[in-house]
Amino acid sequence: MAKGTQRDYYEVLGVAKTASVEEIKGSYRKAALKWHPDRHPADKEEAEVKFRECTEAYSVLSDPEKRQVYDTYGHAGLSSSPGGVDFNGTIFQDFHDIFGDFFGFEDILGGGRGRGRSRSQRGADLRYDMTLTFEEGAAGVTTKIKVPRQEFCGSCKGTGAKAGTGVTTCQSCGGRGQVTYQQGFFAISRTCPACQGAGQIIRERCPECRGQGRVEKEKTIDLRIPAGVDTGTRMRVQGEGEVGVNGGAPGDLYVVLEVRDHAYFERRNADLYCTIPISIVQAALGTELQVPGLNGEEKLKIPEGTQSGAVFRIKGKGLPDPRGGGRGDLYYHVQVLTPSKLTREQRKLMEQLGLTLKVENKPAERGTSFFDKVKDIFG
Ligand SMILES: [Zn+2]
Ligand SMILES: [Zn+2]
Repeated sequence: MAKGTQRDYYEVLGVAKTASVEEIKGSYRKAALKWHPDRHPADKEEAEVKFRECTEAYSVLSDPEKRQVYDTYGHAGLSSSPGGVDFNGTIFQDFHDIFGDFFGFEDILGGGRGRGRSRSQRGADLRYDMTLTFEEGAAGVTTKIKVPRQEFCGSCKGTGAKAGTGVTTCQSCGGRGQVTYQQGFFAISRTCPACQGAGQIIRERCPECRGQGRVEKEKTIDLRIPAGVDTGTRMRVQGEGEVGVNGGAPGDLYVVLEVRDHAYFERRNADLYCTIPISIVQAALGTELQVPGLNGEEKLKIPEGTQSGAVFRIKGKGLPDPRGGGRGDLYYHVQVLTPSKLTREQRKLMEQLGLTLKVENKPAERGTSFFDKVKDIFG
């Protein structure tokens, strides 16, 4: 960073050039709290820049020697003099280490939210991927799934201590689970590294769970998948994730579904689409077809003079809405097949037919959209 672009340190902290050390401290304290990156999750980077800026200003103005140099020579004096501050060096790291870990920071300065020693923690959520056939997705399924997950160890009831040995209070933190360091005018509390915040130390580890208090077990869960689910449908099974820590609630289990494609039907939400080829004769004269439906065959009446591309809808024969709404529709898209290999006799008949048909080869008018072609079979 070019030093020429640096803001005046007094301006950064909003203090007068004559400000006392106490004023500088107070001002920095406010600024550091205001710009702590953890408080600006949306624009962390900008907050970090501001946080560093005020930290840098404080590191200089709080030191009488550096302040003197700065007052006399400005930023240039600090970067060039042997006793100056190395702004790209460790000084930031030191401050960042203190504030980057926000533990205890707000407790001391903001009245505290009371971090108890047995801070409960919600169990982790689990994801289970499941593939269904098209028919299973359409009809819904009731099934059992086996989910490997962390559960409380039965031998030690989750304490991690071998039966009969119990636990002892952690010496490092006196059972509080937190240790406090004094850093200048800040007291920083951190999770006790000796007991990881538990406040207790296990005398002898439970052999079953090796002191973890939890073991991996396979849990069988009954699952009812509603009819009409689609690929990407996510089902939450509340409380069937991993167990919480220190009495925390268990996590949830998310079953993420993939529904395989159907051989004939294409799906658009709850509607189904299917292409049915018909002959030129069927199209011209009309016919009645047996076509595949979601549950067995459906009757499809092709009226006389049907054009290729015509769409017929059977209402309410699509997929059900898994949230309990109605059913989608079933669409048949008719494709008239032009015969490509005619026998001599067929060709003759076609030629005869051709002589009797009046054909106008001109562009079709616009506006014949897909939905204009939809014809309801069962209104
Ligand atoms: Zn155990
Ligand atoms: Zn401890």
